[in-house]
Amino acid sequence: MSAPLIYADFAAATPVDKQVLMAMQPYFADTFYNPSALYGESAKVHKDIETARASVAAVLGARPSEIIFTAGATEANNLVIRGVMAQHPRASLIVSAVEHDSVLVPAHEFDAQIAPVKPNGIIDVTALESIVQDNTVLVSLMYANNEVGTIQPLKAVSSLLAKVRADRKKNGNSLPLYFHTDAAQAANYLDLHVSRLGVDFLTLNGGKIYGPKQSGALYVSAKARLVPQITGGKQEFNMRSGTENVAGIIGVAKALAIASSMRESEAARLRELREMFIQRVISLPIDVTVNGSQRNRLPNNVHITLTGFDNERILIGLDTLGVMAAAGSACSASSDEPSHVLKAMGITDDAARSSLRFTFGRTTTKKHIEQIVAALAKVVADER
Ligand code: PLP
Repeated sequence: MSAPLIYADFAAATPVDKQVLMAMQPYFADTFYNPSALYGESAKVHKDIETARASVAAVLGARPSEIIFTAGATEANNLVIRGVMAQHPRASLIVSAVEHDSVLVPAHEFDAQIAPVKPNGIIDVTALESIVQDNTVLVSLMYANNEVGTIQPLKAVSSLLAKVRADRKKNGNSLPLYFHTDAAQAANYLDLHVSRLGVDFLTLNGGKIYGPKQSGALYVSAKARLVPQITGGKQEFNMRSGTENVAGIIGVAKALAIASSMRESEAARLRELREMFIQRVISLPIDVTVNGSQRNRLPNNVHITLTGFDNERILIGLDTLGVMAAAGSACSASSDEPSHVLKAMGITDDAARSSLRFTFGRTTTKKHIEQIVAALAKVVADER
């Protein structure tokens, strides 16, 4: 008999919540109408999209007109970077060294300054301040990291940027200075209120919050401007053309509403499971380092280095025992390059190749934690 499967890779993908699935279902075949058509049935679909938009806006403390639905976080991140920089192609932008590639890759098409992080994975705000230039128009700093789970001090950065804006005003510099955060990994666990965070753009990803993959939303402050990157039928306030993915839109809105209603209870539950996991793993008879800030981190993420072990072999061993975990971000799992996030934290390539990520979620139980640690103990014993 094969081992029961235990999933510990919720940062890579989350299962679609049953209530989300039910909410989406009618839009595939029953009310499949194009929301832009002129008959009454399509007007109803259009109204449902607007209800979904209002629901997302309510969680963010934003106006419905400030929410654009996208096909996931990559598209939203690309739209912010290219949509701002298209207005100021010779200006510069700042991104942190630990951003997801969907921010880093488009940022490198422009004059990008890289803000370093400290060894605990948290941005160095003083270093960030020192690289803001007179022509910096955008700062993009993720809310929580997908690999090590560290939470960035968005409020400290937004206060710093408010000061820079005030100085610019005094000096007659009329360039905008926007602040974007990629909240793809944060949305299950952290406050998303955009004015409390002080952001102009915020990215959400349905596929990480128990909604469908290729669904997402971007908050665009009414004060900000973006040049659309997908043009055509002018849907989504002309910021993202294309016939709406109605089921995806309904799904991401429902998923966000559910995540928001269980945010605190899930965070507390997972924090406890994570602590239990860490205590058990550090008592294994091997050299274990727990990476990233232990204070400012997502409640569901553990990132460890098992000195002397090869992470791919450990992952294969775990998979054989039915445990699904990760070496880093799923998106770069196929690449042989050590993670840019760990590198930015000063973790050596050797240590990076011995590092593993376990991310827990709604279906994770204490029993799972025990089973995962037991599987890990067996795999490392076999590897010796
Ligand atoms: N941003 C972060 C922080 C992520 O973790 C991910 C996915 O892992 C993305 C962006 C990209 O999401 P997607 O591939 O669903 O567009």
